[in-house]
Amino acid sequence: MKERLAAFAEERDWQQFHTPKNLAMALAGEVGELIAEFQWLTPEQSTTVMSDPEAGGRVRAEIGDVMIYLTRLADVLGIDPVEAALTKLEDSARRYPIDQVRGSAAKR
Ligand SMILES: [Mg+2]
Repeated sequence: MKERLAAFAEERDWQQFHTPKNLAMALAGEVGELIAEFQWLTPEQSTTVMSDPEAGGRVRAEIGDVMIYLTRLADVLGIDPVEAALTKLEDSARRYPIDQVRGSAAKR
């Protein structure tokens, strides 16, 4: 995916616009579009959004947009996003031992 996105940008001579700042801002914009899909839903409606073909399709499209900009941002910064996420997950596993946090949403 990283390579396809880089080729997409290069074919259009858009790498010049793909600075970390611009990509981070584009990512934030797309996260905002994703959030907007849930903005006025009840918590219950949010759990079943994918059963509505129209709303579910919009959520799916915004997830795609977020993934594209996140992947592209990570690439221009030389970060492997999966490795970064796995490192964070290991950190979280250490910070939140199962026997101390299971079933609790309390901040620590
Ligand atoms: Mg979008």
